[in-house]
Amino acid sequence: MAKTKYIYAFGKGIAEGDGTMKELLGGKGAGLAEMTKIGLPVPAGFTITTEVCDLYYKNGKKWPEGLEAEVAKNLKALEKNVGKKLGDPVDPLLVSVRSGAALSMPGMMETILNLGLTDTSVEGIAKKTGNRRFALDAYRRFIMMYGSIAMDIDRAKFDAAFDDLKERKTRRRLSVPNGTKVLDIAVNEDELSELITTFKALYKKEIKKDFPQDPIEQLKGAINAVFGSWMADKAVNYRKIEKIQGIKGTAVNVVQMVFGNKGETSGTGVCFTRDPNSGDNVFYGDYLVNAQGEDVVAGIRTPIKLSDFEKKDPKAYKQLCDVRKTLEKHYKDMQDLEFTVEEGKLYMLQCRTGKRSPMAAFKVAVDMVGEKLITKEDAIMRIKTTDIEGIFYPMIDKSQAAQLKSAFLVQGIDAVPGAAAGKVVFNAKIAEDMAAKGEKVIIVRKETSPEDVGGMHAAQGVLTATGGKTSHAAVVARGWGKCCIVGCEKLDIDYEKKLFRVGSVTVREGDFITLDGSSGNVYVGALKLVKPEPPEAYKALMSWVDQTRTLKVRTNADTPYDAENARRLGAEGIGLTRTEHMFFDSEERILAIRQMIIADDVESRKKALAKLLPFQTKDFEGIFKAMDGCPVTIRLIDPPLHEFVPHDEAGQRALAKAANVTFEHVRQRVEQLHEANPMLGHRGCRLCITFPEILDMQVTAIISAAINMTKKGVKVLPEIMIPLTIDEKEFQILEVQARGIADKLIKDSGLKLSYMVGTMIEVPRAALLADKIAEHAQFFSCGTNDLTQMTLGISRDDAGKFLPDYVDEKKAGVFKADPFQSLDQKGVGMLVQMAIQKGRSVRKDLKVGICGEHGGDLNSVKFCHRIGMNYVSSSPFRVPVSRLAAAQAVIEDKIAAKKAPAKKAVAKKPAAKAKAVAEKKAKPAAKKAVAKKAVAKKAVPAKRARPRSPSKHNV
Ligand code: PEP
Ligand code: MG
Repeated sequence: MAKTKYIYAFGKGIAEGDGTMKELLGGKGAGLAEMTKIGLPVPAGFTITTEVCDLYYKNGKKWPEGLEAEVAKNLKALEKNVGKKLGDPVDPLLVSVRSGAALSMPGMMETILNLGLTDTSVEGIAKKTGNRRFALDAYRRFIMMYGSIAMDIDRAKFDAAFDDLKERKTRRRLSVPNGTKVLDIAVNEDELSELITTFKALYKKEIKKDFPQDPIEQLKGAINAVFGSWMADKAVNYRKIEKIQGIKGTAVNVVQMVFGNKGETSGTGVCFTRDPNSGDNVFYGDYLVNAQGEDVVAGIRTPIKLSDFEKKDPKAYKQLCDVRKTLEKHYKDMQDLEFTVEEGKLYMLQCRTGKRSPMAAFKVAVDMVGEKLITKEDAIMRIKTTDIEGIFYPMIDKSQAAQLKSAFLVQGIDAVPGAAAGKVVFNAKIAEDMAAKGEKVIIVRKETSPEDVGGMHAAQGVLTATGGKTSHAAVVARGWGKCCIVGCEKLDIDYEKKLFRVGSVTVREGDFITLDGSSGNVYVGALKLVKPEPPEAYKALMSWVDQTRTLKVRTNADTPYDAENARRLGAEGIGLTRTEHMFFDSEERILAIRQMIIADDVESRKKALAKLLPFQTKDFEGIFKAMDGCPVTIRLIDPPLHEFVPHDEAGQRALAKAANVTFEHVRQRVEQLHEANPMLGHRGCRLCITFPEILDMQVTAIISAAINMTKKGVKVLPEIMIPLTIDEKEFQILEVQARGIADKLIKDSGLKLSYMVGTMIEVPRAALLADKIAEHAQFFSCGTNDLTQMTLGISRDDAGKFLPDYVDEKKAGVFKADPFQSLDQKGVGMLVQMAIQKGRSVRKDLKVGICGEHGGDLNSVKFCHRIGMNYVSSSPFRVPVSRLAAAQAVIEDKIAAKKAPAKKAVAKKPAAKAKAVAEKKAKPAAKKAVAKKAVAKKAVPAKRARPRSPSKHNV
């Protein structure tokens, strides 16, 4: 067997790896290799693969056999390539040791710079460069980084020693007034020498050994430190939040050092080839003169803009602009670059696909299609679920002009757009705790560090006193589309007293503030926020999405308001109206349904139902109107009746009084309704089997509404849906009853009105008997919430308590994702697929959709496309996500077909063919644009029957 290659070298225009090898070389390693290959100025180096990191952990944190020899061999080659030797006392090679996983994890893992400096080589560098201050500065940085990162010495101890020196020596020497910061660059050679001695003593005290003077020992320690950072809490936490799974580990890049801290003609920067906030085609970034890379990302000093860099050093800037052009043309995407200028010469240190705001994701993709860099299909594939979610960023309601003026506090740098209001919190852990209790918080920090990511994620917005647009806070918040303001230097933060001051104004922990990430403005108090209109690029891209997809996208909506909203978001019909939600809309309705439930006999039940009839009819009319020309699936009552009645004595007494019955009667009836396992109890169609008059009322309401709206010129396509069916006989009883009512009403109206009767597939037995049921049912709607619950035997209402352990890679990892969010394709998916195949084996034109929460989940929608469904139905704000997923599924099909034409064609045939037949036979829904005014009020139920559709899935 061929020996595994652990290391890939690059330098002087030649690279063993390339840009396609991200998984093996990490994003950074692949980028360095590719940039080297296309002739860009990249310092030489080598990349230890991500596989080695994996082996390191499998091996009990030991290097795999052969790695040491391979490192030695590559180091030798690197020394030869650059003509310098590591540890050389006269002209030493220095290297950086950098992390880099396949997926970007900004700031989460470690980097060590200036490796190779020792007490002797530092003097060599000093002589060679003629710049002793620079050499000493590099050495003090190295001791600090190596000590804290590789040897785990608390970084604060080094910082404290540095601050102490600046206070004792530099401030005095330069007479810097108290209250003004002493900058690192003000520290002179003598002071740096003293600092190095102090740092080495600190190292010895903590580690009980001298600071290593053998560069090979340093290199090994640094490589291990990078591997170690892969499993550090902050990195593990970040992967959890970002749902990064299945990548092997971090690569380690050992790269020849170039120096941005060699004086005024040197510097270092981070930039994006386009504006990552707006997506505009302008060069965007930060540059720090006379600094090393860590200073920019850490946000310790506030950098200058690229336009000022151009003024300061036009020659170096021109080199950077040429690189920008080359890279965009080469990668056909916006790039995020790290570079260093050493005495006027540019070096590229990193290039990767740039993280961007949701707004920018659409703008860049659409612009690049216009620039003929990419195709429309490429553009569609580049949009992520989170981009769509983020496009509906909240904004400050500008109609509050007077408040905006009086509440204005201070302006910082507008790092990530959108707006956020919440209580001020200075500590990440407190932010997490408060957010967990449902409070809205804004995290305020001098600067953020990777330890803060949990709190930043939990917060509505992020505000920092230092840093630029590419500081840690800005990069991380942007990835989430979270409002962020940085570099707000007027903030005087006192962590101990838990407050910040701006001039004479003091804001304490718990006080409300509002951030406007688009302007950088900070306001006191909680201002009103509104949601903006999606930008033009969103509309353009979504129109391509709609041209591409074959799967229809409907919505789950219970009110005319939701229906209109969903239609604006692109819904092509309603896949589920939960009629029971309408019962909670007013006191009158609640009373009527409760009277129906506590009724002793059919007559009094019918009387109560008669009160509900006009309400339901009116609601259905509104929904039909909003969905003019589109199919509307209305489901008959579903939840167990006990969910509608009061369980406390006061509530029962009130009901008894309102319904004119005794308290004892109500109490007894509520007791009778109690079930040990209500989700498997008297619910769904079982209710109508027992109380057929409920079905009579609901079908009467649906069909009367359809008749009334047809008379008003609305095109109505009603679909009556029976929930929780387990059997064809059960279905048939209800279908015959429903048709009896509907046909009579239609006949009496003298109109021609067609409707459908179908069922939900949400009990495993229904999937198993789907062919029998399909003999009578005209459509299936897969209720994957219940189907998941019943197939897995895991209660959807209690799963939250233990399911996270099943998803947690470190604990059980049984599921890759929560099966109530993302369909368990292996298990539940198999039942769904079986139901479709069996159903269409007897009814070729069987229409099939999904109305569980999975209808709004990217991967589940793609699965629904692949197994030949006609439509998916999701909550209104998920509709655009479902549209995108459906289009991406078509494109992925094409890509797969190109890769394996023969295999793919055979595998897909049956479902695709059946779907085509179903589509042809099913009545075409007229695609009429609706420009309707908003319906009077948003009918939000006063109380939900049960948290049946977790709102966390909503945007
Ligand atoms: C389902 O079970 O998937 C479904 C849509 O119905 P509900 O969530 O109302 O039970
Ligand atoms: Mg259900």
